[in-house]
Amino acid sequence: MSNRQPKGLDKLGLENIGRVFYNLSYDELQAHEMNMNEAKLSSSGTAMVDTGIFTGRSPKDKYFVDQAPSNQNIAWGSVNQPIKKEIYEELLTVTQKQLSGKNLYVTDAYAGSSPASRRKIRVISEIAWQAHFVKNMFIRPSDEELEDFEPDFVMYNACKTVNSNYEKHGLRSNVYAVFNVEENIAVIGGSWYGGEMKKGIFSMMNYWLPLEGKMAMHCSANVGKEGDVCLFFGLSGTGKTTLSTDAHRALIGDDEHGWDDHGVFNFEGGCYAKVIDLDPKSEPEIYGAIRKNALLENVVHDEYGYVDYSDNSKTENTRVSYPIEHIENHKEDLMAGHPNNIIFLTADAFGVLPPVSKLNKEQAMYYFLSGYTAKVAGTELGITEPVAAFSACFGEAFLPLPPTEYAKLLGTKIDEHDVHVYLVNTGWTGGPYGVGKRMSIKDTRACIDGILNGSINDAEFDMLDVFNLAIPKTLDGVNDNTVLNPRNTWESKEAYDETLLKLAAMFQENFHRYDASGSEFNFSDAGPKL
Ligand code: ATP
Ligand code: MN
Repeated sequence: MSNRQPKGLDKLGLENIGRVFYNLSYDELQAHEMNMNEAKLSSSGTAMVDTGIFTGRSPKDKYFVDQAPSNQNIAWGSVNQPIKKEIYEELLTVTQKQLSGKNLYVTDAYAGSSPASRRKIRVISEIAWQAHFVKNMFIRPSDEELEDFEPDFVMYNACKTVNSNYEKHGLRSNVYAVFNVEENIAVIGGSWYGGEMKKGIFSMMNYWLPLEGKMAMHCSANVGKEGDVCLFFGLSGTGKTTLSTDAHRALIGDDEHGWDDHGVFNFEGGCYAKVIDLDPKSEPEIYGAIRKNALLENVVHDEYGYVDYSDNSKTENTRVSYPIEHIENHKEDLMAGHPNNIIFLTADAFGVLPPVSKLNKEQAMYYFLSGYTAKVAGTELGITEPVAAFSACFGEAFLPLPPTEYAKLLGTKIDEHDVHVYLVNTGWTGGPYGVGKRMSIKDTRACIDGILNGSINDAEFDMLDVFNLAIPKTLDGVNDNTVLNPRNTWESKEAYDETLLKLAAMFQENFHRYDASGSEFNFSDAGPKL
């Protein structure tokens, strides 16, 4: 361990701090994980941990402190729940008490690759694998940058404690993730899941950047040999990570980006890929990234450490985090110029939307504000119907400001840089979930290649009824062009037409929330028309 110690330890409100493990190397972290029985090693030398009761985030336990002047900015509601300053103070005390008298992992890192827009983050935790997760996911400072690193924001992770007074506080559960944007502090308790830290800092970036006129986005990004940049927006499971990881294009990042006057930049220094049913043939780069320094979560393995990626008995949400350097073809500075293309990914389990369609400007705003995908039924008995999910800007859970603020910024930038926008359905074809099948990654990639090599611009287009989406009739690289029009792929045309109308009605109903947003957001005309 280097002898370096973090600056400002005395300002953390912690008493009798034990040993401080500051920005440990990967080798040290692995040694800690093994010696403290936190992890097992996979046959490829990757640390494997279980994240405890929580194998996903707990969005209903996330709060922002309700205080002036920031309470004027925040879009209060079920996504951004207010919490009183006094309760926050109590939870800060609970958190600091838990972390006092302990050996602590202190990890300093950047959020944001662009020096003009990044923030300095400090995460404090008792758990080695959490420090490992933070090291993988955030941007790793150089030794020189650590010399006088003074954090802009401090996140305390006291996952081993809970809020036992939650009922008295009028809160939902004993789990808490509370953000104080005035004091630049977050406190977490009750959940060990790393995603709370990752998406917590993402939420803060989504707060800070738009207030500086910069866009913050839940999207992946890559760049071609000619410097052409593509963004892939989409909710969880729609393919941001899978599709941005492309041997022919340099990866900028797989999940969170900013867009300022210079171009696009990653917030993170690593990727967080789903590994359920991971197939090395269709996702060779991600498969290859699972090696020493990566961190596997909640996977099932045998006594020798061989992982069974098909086993979902711990969770469907099995994951691996890895530093972006594990993807050979990545953009070293994690930045690029302005986007040429934007793709909205959706996993339409109704099987209605075309695998690829071209959007005009108004449609782009409509589909961005709608943020549609569909979830397939969980394990509940007898449920086979897909469930539509609308999440504004493809990530409303992470937006502290009103969605229209982000839409405004995106719209301006699309105009300014003449960006082409497409909707790509990575979901079902040949029928809904239960009848049809998921689009193959190969076909989806062919659609995306057609966008990126410009061949889609030479195609003739059909119009999808009701939705008025422009569908290319042919596309280079797509084996069988009949898949391009979803109606062709359904055995029963009546069933298709009926499902299309049903989905159109859901879009319309969801979009009513923008009716009162003023003429600037009157994009209903760009949506489906019944
Ligand atoms: P999150 O925001 O949770 O990280 P994501 O948008 O990055 O989600 P991915 O991790 O890329 O989503 O997940 C897409 C999943 O769907 C992967 O497990 C991938 O193997 C699978 N998949 C199946 N068919 C397709 C397809 N046609 N296109 C993209 N992914 C597909
Ligand atoms: Mn992802």
